Amino acid sequence: MLGRMDAPESTARSTLDLVHDLRALLRPDQVDVSASALTLHARGESCDVTRLPDVVVYPESSDDVQRVMAHAYETGTPVTPVAINSSLEGHTVPLHGGVSLDMTRMDRIVELAPHDFLAVVQPGVTYPKLNEALRATGLFFTVDPGAEASLGGMASTNASGTMAVRYGVMGDLVLGLEVVTPTGRVIRTGGRSRKSSSGYALTRLFCGAEGTLGVITELTVRLSARPAAVMGARLAFDTVSTCVAFVTELIQSGASVARCELVDRQAVAAIRNHLDLPLADAHTVFLEFHGDEATVASAAALAIDLAREHGSTAAETAPDGDALRALWRGRHQAFYAMVAAHPGMANLITDLAVPVSRLAEVIDASLETVASVGLPGYVLGHVGDGNFHLTIFFPEDDAEARARVSAAHAELVRLTLAAGGTCTGEHGIGLRKLPYVRAEHGDAVDLMWAIKDAFDPAGIMNPGKKLPPRDGSAA
Ligand SMILES: Cc1cc2nc3c(=O)[nH]c(=O)nc-3n(C[C@H](O)[C@H](O)[C@H](O)COP(=O)(O)OP(=O)(O)OC[C@H]3O[C@@H](n4cnc5c(N)ncnc54)[C@H](O)[C@@H]3O)c2cc1C
Repeated sequence: MLGRMDAPESTARSTLDLVHDLRALLRPDQVDVSASALTLHARGESCDVTRLPDVVVYPESSDDVQRVMAHAYETGTPVTPVAINSSLEGHTVPLHGGVSLDMTRMDRIVELAPHDFLAVVQPGVTYPKLNEALRATGLFFTVDPGAEASLGGMASTNASGTMAVRYGVMGDLVLGLEVVTPTGRVIRTGGRSRKSSSGYALTRLFCGAEGTLGVITELTVRLSARPAAVMGARLAFDTVSTCVAFVTELIQSGASVARCELVDRQAVAAIRNHLDLPLADAHTVFLEFHGDEATVASAAALAIDLAREHGSTAAETAPDGDALRALWRGRHQAFYAMVAAHPGMANLITDLAVPVSRLAEVIDASLETVASVGLPGYVLGHVGDGNFHLTIFFPEDDAEARARVSAAHAELVRLTLAAGGTCTGEHGIGLRKLPYVRAEHGDAVDLMWAIKDAFDPAGIMNPGKKLPPRDGSAA
């Protein structure tokens, strides 16, 4: 066993020894050192930091993970879990080499228990796959990040998506976990009951741990009944502030809002060009209401009335089915439309969240900051729960532009924290948000390190992520 440390460099033993040992523990086809596998696991989505792992390992069971972790603990080998690799902050870059633990082969739905409103899955199951399996049950799983992510990855980033405003985020919906710890022990946290006051809340702790405390090998998640009726609305406004004022009032009215997304005028233009959709040239709010027929009809009517009071320039509603899908299509493709508008450019996506009552002022200040940077920027996001993304595009190899964008991001985080918000509503810290963790959590970071040390005394689990250096030096 190794001593306590922030992040060991890859094992002192040679890669050859490591691969030899792992091939003895698993089948040969589960241990890959091909150039293509290493390259594929060297980087994450939307983050340009790269580092090759020494080896990619594909566990197929908890047992496999347990053997790999016990070996890693004995030899001090860094291990970075990865699933669909759609996280946006460099979470999965194997910064210190070692093993990339690719969880995608653990993709079995273990049990559907509709009467208990729960499902038990392996971590590599994606949420679309789970929802496909649930189709005949009248139930669904409600967390829907834009990418087709895995439940293990989603739990580990405490992901949310368009429906969190009604149904909650991953941490609210994970009832229990099986986890292999960084010392090679298999533990179970939580269980199958909807509530529990027993022990410390370890399940919640693993939600959002970004693979730094252990490897999730099974999840028990809570399901929801499909609503009897669904209705959508799309409303256009002249200014972002009016959109936000409208949304704030709508949420505060208690209407049965299940989705509430803002797409600013620039992003609407990108969507129009990319998908050739007949969208109004305006800042746009996309809404969806869930409930029974009467509830969704009255919620939609209330939204239209309120929107008119706020000077809405166009309003449409759509019943469930093809019409609803058509109404929402632009929102679901917004990120890809923005990327298509700036071929070859890099982007930085902020992920700020504030109390809803402070949203308008923080978005306004953010837009001013972006205007001062002089680069293309777009606002979209899950404004119903105070979470918005500002995406700024800049030339990939322009160091000066990159520095300006980073400085703007730092300023936006400062404004957000001053408004009682957080630097990340759903994407997580990964690598890129490390500089903001101390500013947000102060001395609590020292206790977070104590937790990390208790779980991972050798510092081998996804080292270099989630927590800034313990000595307070710059991340
Ligand atoms: C177009 C687009 C839209 C997006 N929209 C949203 C959105 O609306 N909301 C949102 O929350 N996110 C969004 N994301 C980000 C991303 O989809 C989420 O962060 C998602 O939760 C990552 O899941 P994944 O399976 O890709 O995990 P990965 O990216 O593979 O891993 C994510 C983290 O989890 C860890 N991990 C993975 N599997 C395990 C495991 N079994 N045990 C322990 N640790 C593990 C990894 O080490 C890493 O730290 C979006 C991304 C893209 C590209």
